[in-house]
Amino acid sequence: MSFESLGLSAPVLQAVADKGYTTPTLIQEKAIPIVLMGRDVLGCAQTGTGKTASFVLPMIDILSEGRAKARMPRSLILEPTRELAAQVAENFEIYGKNHKLNMALLIGGVSFPDQERALERGADVLIATPGRLLDHFERGGILLNDVKILVIDEADRMLDMGFIPDVERIVATLPPLRQTLFFSATMPPEIKRLADRFLSNPKEVTVSAPASASATIVQGLTVVQEDDKREALRALIKEQDIKNAIVFCNRKKDVAILQTSLKKHGFNAGALHGDMSQPARMETLDKFKQGEIQILVASDVAARGLDIVAMSHVFNFDVPFSPEDYVHRIGRTGRAGLTGHSFTLASPDEGPLVDAIEKLIGTTIPRVEVPGMETLAFEPSDGRRRGRSRGRSSSSSSSSRSRSSSSRPPREPRPEVEARPEREARPEVEARPERAARPEREARTERQPQPRAERSPREPRPEREPRSDRDTRSSAAPSSSRSRSDRPRPDRRDRDDTPAPMGLGDHVPAFLARPTR
Ligand code: AMP
Repeated sequence: MSFESLGLSAPVLQAVADKGYTTPTLIQEKAIPIVLMGRDVLGCAQTGTGKTASFVLPMIDILSEGRAKARMPRSLILEPTRELAAQVAENFEIYGKNHKLNMALLIGGVSFPDQERALERGADVLIATPGRLLDHFERGGILLNDVKILVIDEADRMLDMGFIPDVERIVATLPPLRQTLFFSATMPPEIKRLADRFLSNPKEVTVSAPASASATIVQGLTVVQEDDKREALRALIKEQDIKNAIVFCNRKKDVAILQTSLKKHGFNAGALHGDMSQPARMETLDKFKQGEIQILVASDVAARGLDIVAMSHVFNFDVPFSPEDYVHRIGRTGRAGLTGHSFTLASPDEGPLVDAIEKLIGTTIPRVEVPGMETLAFEPSDGRRRGRSRGRSSSSSSSSRSRSSSSRPPREPRPEVEARPEREARPEVEARPERAARPEREARTERQPQPRAERSPREPRPEREPRSDRDTRSSAAPSSSRSRSDRPRPDRRDRDDTPAPMGLGDHVPAFLARPTR
């Protein structure tokens, strides 16, 4: 099928051709004609499938007629993270270059006055994260009565991050007569119920998870002691032919520690996590995209949707708590048909987390050995170690041998939705413990929009971060691992970053640098 047969206008087709796309992706093929017809869409699709263009392209054509009034946007796109919102805005600029549509991007960490000016100009397209949008709304800076098209993107991510009440509040202020496009990578019942409430006679469009992407990713996993992970990472980085890589950590504080460590060892490393200011996040991401930073140490804030061209490697410094996050993390590489590599460093007690991932992806991750390092096996569930193998060979030759030491049979593929039953059972209050600590948010539920003059401006509140980025664990983590973060963890700052012994300068004899056990 060609783009020309989808019903898009000539200026949009020109922008698509200029971008270099020749054929629509499956989601574009299925969704674009339906959106152009004005129908609601319930899209089950992940990032990487071309989902963004599937709603941006027809929206440009629909919005090309008419003009927005000041502070009254004509369409609204809700995104769970600032990075995704910024990426959608970039897409709008690229595909809408032959149109004169005004866009406003409302995300946290960016100055309010600039955003207010963009709203004042009249926004045909408003792209926002829920928290910042509500802040503007409560200050009386925006009226949503004119929104004719609503896009809720990454709905399951919104759920994970505890944003659903904010989304519900926003949708309650929109006119009921509108077109709604609702996208989610998975459709657990909680999300389906939400879709049923927000959508009217939607056309369902499902494209499978980007399995093709995973087919282009060469995966590997190694089991090493927690304390040896940094050494293992360095060995892998040196062994691999790395163009650019993201190293994912489960905890924000480990991101900073690991980045410092890598820099100290001579690597060109940057850091990206949710505690950084938005300009710093954008600057780092930009440097990484431009190739000025080769290795980006990141929390899961970078796991979803980020589109970095031809990224060669992803490293999981920790096994992610949620198996879905594994898929999202490694999906940053192996994009657009290129081969990518992912390596996961697991500690011996992370077996249950790896089990959950392998169950989800329907295959066992090949075990690899790190040159010069001891390869361990996972602890059995009774806490005793299953035995060690001492390996010194290179990763390419080792997978079958180390695999056999873990003696787990390969699993049958399972559908993705089935693999996350915990989410359905999770009581809402328990799932968002941080809410209880923010009484001012509860009060907002009752508040109705008021004319601007009657209201005193409020301080912007800091935007919330993904829960996985806040040292809390995902609901999808296997129960056997739930107590893991409660246990004392070795401080990753010690060991190989300890200063050189006094008086030896940079020339430390190897036997002195070796850790004592
Ligand atoms: P998305 O799922 O929207 O994050 O898109 C994933 C990647 O696919 C982005 O790099 C897009 O630029 C790219 N893309 C989207 N549509 C097409 C297309 N029809 N042909 C080739 N690449 C595309």
